[in-house]
Amino acid sequence: MNSPHASSEAVPRLARIIPRDSHPISRSKIAPEALRVLYRLREAGFDAYLVGGCVRDLTLGLEPKDFDVATNALPEQVKRLFRNCRLVGRRFRLAHVFFGREIIEVATFRASGAPPQGDELPPEDPSLEDGSLEDGSLDDAPIDEAPLEVEEVSELEDSRDVHDFDESLERVVDQSGRILRDNVYGTIDDDIWRRDFTCNALYYNIADFSVWDYCQGFEDVKARRLRLIGDPETRYREDPVRMLRAARFQAKLGFEIEPATAEPIAKLSGLLAGVPPARLFDETLKLFLTGHGAESYRVLLERGLLDELLPGVAAFARKHPGSAPERMLIQGLINTDARVRADRPVTPSFLFALLLYGPIGLAIEKRPRAEWHDISTILDAVDVAVRDIYTRVAVHRRFILGMRDMFALQPRLEVPRGRRALRTLEHPRFRAAFDLLQLRAEFGMADKAIVEWWTKLQAATPEQRATMSEAIGRTNGGAEGRGSSSGRNSRRRRGGRRRGRGGGGPVG
Ligand code: ATP
Ligand code: MG
Repeated sequence: MNSPHASSEAVPRLARIIPRDSHPISRSKIAPEALRVLYRLREAGFDAYLVGGCVRDLTLGLEPKDFDVATNALPEQVKRLFRNCRLVGRRFRLAHVFFGREIIEVATFRASGAPPQGDELPPEDPSLEDGSLEDGSLDDAPIDEAPLEVEEVSELEDSRDVHDFDESLERVVDQSGRILRDNVYGTIDDDIWRRDFTCNALYYNIADFSVWDYCQGFEDVKARRLRLIGDPETRYREDPVRMLRAARFQAKLGFEIEPATAEPIAKLSGLLAGVPPARLFDETLKLFLTGHGAESYRVLLERGLLDELLPGVAAFARKHPGSAPERMLIQGLINTDARVRADRPVTPSFLFALLLYGPIGLAIEKRPRAEWHDISTILDAVDVAVRDIYTRVAVHRRFILGMRDMFALQPRLEVPRGRRALRTLEHPRFRAAFDLLQLRAEFGMADKAIVEWWTKLQAATPEQRATMSEAIGRTNGGAEGRGSSSGRNSRRRRGGRRRGRGGGGPVG
């Protein structure tokens, strides 16, 4: 089948085949699980290729994040070959082959340019660290809005938005040109159209270890160049997330986006408003929590994409460039990148606390100064900032609750009151809240002495802790019993009250 793209002539139907001795990809660098899937498919008489980011990364000498396989076996045929296999995807059927925590994604060659895992709601990543709220000891009033659900295909077919449903292609496109459904299988040379950039469209053939290249992807990888396959504007309209992916690969790989691929982004970035917020949440985590978050922030701002992804964050950055909250955000992202590189856990709660710190501070400062440190003021401000991004990015509720805890703990950390400090130490979000306090102090937004006090307290023996907390309790006028359940309830009531715009806290 021919590609439906006007510019399909731009991609030859014959691949350039790069033999094993002309490319650097060695099987020793391929995950054994991926090799097993490739060999099993091959033994069953199917074609099997590694494809996508893993081939790109192997060519660059980097360690791939994950391994994707493309094959001419149909999903049901793949399922029959592997006991540990599940078919996933409502709109795009894919086979997931499980090896413990490792998943190898096996996709059947597809006929036209659809996003492979496109609008599917991504599964929550269980590896993301974020403990559940302990006992609601801080305000845990629920956020009103639930994440947007991804619509079923059947609804989309009925939708008035759908203006083009070609049964022979089984391809549904909305008014902006976005592909809503695509489920036709094809051959490897059709499959190229479901790839985004040339560097992501290299196929490593397990039959003879050659690399198949239809669109000079190999040259582009070597030149560290990001180039969309086909007409850039059409490809961005089909799937606006490709603009974010361009920014992500620029940030992650240090590739240069070639002019024709970069140019339409400014004009088309507004199309991101039509992407399901659950998918943008997933992309946001990939941008900021995979080791190149600081650079992602820079690139997203530079390309005007942050204004569409996280409008409140971008507005703050544009209005207050170089401010303490912005410098703290960048430093926080640098620290997060280092944690990812060291294989230490990172949490979306902390990320969103960093991103929203500026907007939350602004909301707080709208209140009378005397209320800035009230927990209810702080939580109201957090909720205002969250609502602001929620229409774009559906942050999972547990991360919002984690972030609210981090902010609500700030006054407790800044003014420890007697033995209550010891309970704060046990709070499941203490560590994240303390990290935030430390960063705030680094940028002059909290007292360095109190950071030192908490650092000492953490290292102290139980006896020393008791002495320290009593001593600081006398200084701060802390009374025992302030953390009692009645106190907690009254805080919860206050925090749960909705007072519209505004909030308060020790944020600026
Ligand atoms: P990463 O290093 O982040 O895993 P990747 O390029 O492998 O990068 P994935 O999201 O894992 O990205 O997708 C695998 C492959 O699927 C891509 O390399 C690309 O060929 C294709 N792909 C993914 N998303 C899209 C999209 N939105 N549009 C077109 N092709 C896509
Ligand atoms: Mg990948």
